[in-house]
Amino acid sequence: MPFSRVDAGYNGGCCQKGTRRKELALHYSTIKYCDIANGEGVRTSLFVSGCRRRCPFCFNEEAWSFTAGNPFDESVEQAIIESLAPTYIDGLSVLGGEPMEPENQKGLVDFLEKVKKTYPSKTIWCYTGDTFEELLGEKKTGETERMLACIDVLVDGPFVESLKDITLRFRGSSNQRVIDLNATRKAGSVILWEDDPLFSSHAL
Ligand code: SF4
Repeated sequence: MPFSRVDAGYNGGCCQKGTRRKELALHYSTIKYCDIANGEGVRTSLFVSGCRRRCPFCFNEEAWSFTAGNPFDESVEQAIIESLAPTYIDGLSVLGGEPMEPENQKGLVDFLEKVKKTYPSKTIWCYTGDTFEELLGEKKTGETERMLACIDVLVDGPFVESLKDITLRFRGSSNQRVIDLNATRKAGSVILWEDDPLFSSHAL
């Protein structure tokens, strides 16, 4: 996974003068425009920094640090919002690192709500090493419900090398699920996203 920039000068996690500790700002390692590998159609993909999971054979070790890359500031937000405007862009994908780390949820949730409000017909995909059930249970934070409400498709579960399958679309190992959250909300139980039969049957 390419990482174009490392900001060695970031000081967002340092203590401010006095006693108040400043909240660590969300960082990102990469933004891919016109990405066709991380969700349906043509997308903007945001790779946030920070992950405590440390899966063996992680494809993206550089993003374990919460300060890898650059701060996710308003100019970056605006660039992404603008990138989503063309009709041929299907939506936004958020990957990591781990978007569902508690501090990353705090840094992302307002932005995802803004994207959803600006482009209600475009989809938001999110990749997480947590399972959907964990996010509703022991991993739930004060932001998780708002995060999930913005997400159309959740690719969940950790990458497991022994279950790696390169024929799978949009996931690396067979334990991971591509969950249609809109259908799941309606049904009240997990409904998997249905791929186009042309792709899911490898008939191309
Ligand atoms: S969840 Fe993703 S980024 Fe985190 S260690 Fe596992 S593979 Fe790497």
